[in-house]
Amino acid sequence: MIVAGNWKMYGGPDPAALAERLADVPGVDAIVCPPYVSLARCVAAGLTTFAQNVHWENEGAYTGEISPSMLLGLGVAGSLVGHSERRQYFGETDSDVARRAQAALEAGLGVIACVGETQEQRDAGDMETVLRIQVEAIGAACGAHERLVLAYEPVWAIGTGRTATPEMAQQAHALVKSLLDRPVLYGGSVKPDNADELMAQPDVDGALVGGASLDIESFAAICQAASLS
Ligand code: PEP
Repeated sequence: MIVAGNWKMYGGPDPAALAERLADVPGVDAIVCPPYVSLARCVAAGLTTFAQNVHWENEGAYTGEISPSMLLGLGVAGSLVGHSERRQYFGETDSDVARRAQAALEAGLGVIACVGETQEQRDAGDMETVLRIQVEAIGAACGAHERLVLAYEPVWAIGTGRTATPEMAQQAHALVKSLLDRPVLYGGSVKPDNADELMAQPDVDGALVGGASLDIESFAAICQAASLS
């Protein structure tokens, strides 16, 4: 079981206090994804630390980007790619996501690659098609790489308090796994009170947690649920 906390553009909890609390929750791979400015502090606290994005080149004229080798130099273990906020607000395409994932894996980083449909796409009956296109783009670039993890994050559930039912999550995860046989995390308003039923599903291999990862006790409770499932 893997539980990753995406701090988005928030300061997040004190890394040392979080590391101390997580030491009480064995049996789960806990990952934090802080803003770039907090990566070094999280690494120094002993947390498994991922960036929230990574570029495909190792250096160059790409203002605002950060490269795989720069992350490795900080002791960062991996990166998210393809988060829906990157796709939605910054125009990242499936091919950008695939390039980022491939370069990060080739450099030696881990990758959590996010996929998921919008409400409109689900309402139109296009959920499967959207997932297929997104996952196949990643699979074509990376294959079933051993350091690749996928995250199913229905866009309508992110930061909204609306969570996929365990059955909806299971159905989507089974589809994603049939396309690319790697662990799949569920993301979208995961909280301590819904984490155990989501993670009890056979194809749910952990959680990608946004809002609830900003609070040490909430994040620890979700890690605890993962360790028991
Ligand atoms: C996320 O940012 O990936 C996420 C799932 O956010 P939240 O848990 O707040 O819905």
